[in-house]
Amino acid sequence: MTDDRRQRQHVYQSGLWRPLRDAYLMAHPLCEDCQAAGRVRAATEVHHVVSFMLMPEGPLRDELAYDAGNLVALCGECHRARHRGAHNAVSQKKCQNNGKNQL
Ligand SMILES: [Zn+2]
Ligand SMILES: [Zn+2]
Repeated sequence: MTDDRRQRQHVYQSGLWRPLRDAYLMAHPLCEDCQAAGRVRAATEVHHVVSFMLMPEGPLRDELAYDAGNLVALCGECHRARHRGAHNAVSQKKCQNNGKNQL
């Protein structure tokens, strides 16, 4: 567990994550899960749709960790919901993204 946590920190403190996260939140100011449910709520957190921890440490993991196409902007509540194991919402997410630019 501790090692897992350290590996996550490695990504989040890499210097690449922060600007990517900030840019993503700038481009997606609203929680995407709330939007999908017809609610309007500010996004405050960025979540990896596919956890980069599924990849072995190395270039494959970095690719997933810093791929903007693997990110989703969420409010705190939806972020926690996803981490509680709401895998159902995860698989739907990318398909619905096609209509995202209709704002
Ligand atoms: Zn939300
Ligand atoms: Zn997350």
